[in-house]
Amino acid sequence: MPTHSLLIIGGGPAGYTAAIYASRAGLAPILYQGPQPGGQLTTTTLVENYPGFPDGIQGPAMMETFRKQAEHFGTQIRIGTATSIDCSRTPYRVTIDGQETLATKTLIIATGSSPKWLGLPSEQAFLGRGVSSCATCDGFFFKNQDVAVVGGGDSAAEEALHLSKLCSKVYLLVRKNTMRASFIMQQRLKKTPHISILWNTEVLEVFGKQAVEAVQVVHNITQVQQKLSLKALFVAIGHRPNTQFTQPHLTLDPLGYIQTRPGTAETNIPGIFAAGDVQDHRYRQAVTAAGSGCMAALEAERFLHQ
Ligand code: NDP
Repeated sequence: MPTHSLLIIGGGPAGYTAAIYASRAGLAPILYQGPQPGGQLTTTTLVENYPGFPDGIQGPAMMETFRKQAEHFGTQIRIGTATSIDCSRTPYRVTIDGQETLATKTLIIATGSSPKWLGLPSEQAFLGRGVSSCATCDGFFFKNQDVAVVGGGDSAAEEALHLSKLCSKVYLLVRKNTMRASFIMQQRLKKTPHISILWNTEVLEVFGKQAVEAVQVVHNITQVQQKLSLKALFVAIGHRPNTQFTQPHLTLDPLGYIQTRPGTAETNIPGIFAAGDVQDHRYRQAVTAAGSGCMAALEAERFLHQ
């Protein structure tokens, strides 16, 4: 079995940026795209906050430019998903789709995280047409409109506060009569006049023609239903980092994200680096993911030259 210098797992902004840097450094990386080539950005429409695109760019088109740039410098891009790793010996072993095993001296894990969804067919039908998991990305498109956020954690609170600066009204739909969000976030929500918290409230269905026009909600104690007219539904019920295949080797934080040494892309295993949302539940932006992909590639290069 040949030993590769660098494998990159994940085809989002972090993985492709790592690939661009690593291939320019002559490391001949191989990148496996994973189950969603292009990553979460392929589920959004216009990206307006990535520097360098003054008129914005469609998420899938942007990821296509990332892929082309990585290929241009010689990255081998392959279809496949890492299903397990073995770090008990060097070179490390990575198994793809449970079938093919590759040996590598270094590894960059950039498998991202997946937003949790409510699981309603109508929610999935309006994905990218009013249903979103990212207010920072998509809130701007609903300026001066009524919108809703689902969730009761810090993410939902942050999304609602962000949207309150843009939208005319923000419903916050919380399924319990309490929130998990930190005290200070809850205080801020209560002080913001545009935000209306609907407690014990769950979404039953999303309605619309071309895009979202309303959601049907139910009070889960009284069972009283109502239809809220609004233009967007932001689902903020948590993310699931894609780290299952790294176990039991890599150390995860209490939320399941790969733990990196602060200010670096280093994991607990020398030569294995993590970049992007798989190690970041705080910022979760394409530009921060790309930045951390660059860090991971520079560190892999240094490691290989040591
Ligand atoms: P959390 O897991 O903290 O909260 C998820 C929320 O979604 C809960 O209120 C939960 O309700 C609700 N929920 C889950 N499933 C459903 C469902 N099917 N229908 C309706 N509601 C549902 O996730 P977050 O993403 O908010 O936060 C993750 C971590 O990141 C936390 O530790 C948080 O503190 C941190 N974070 C920190 C920020 C900051 O410091 N600025 C910003 C954002 C996140 P229930 O309570 O009923 O289970």
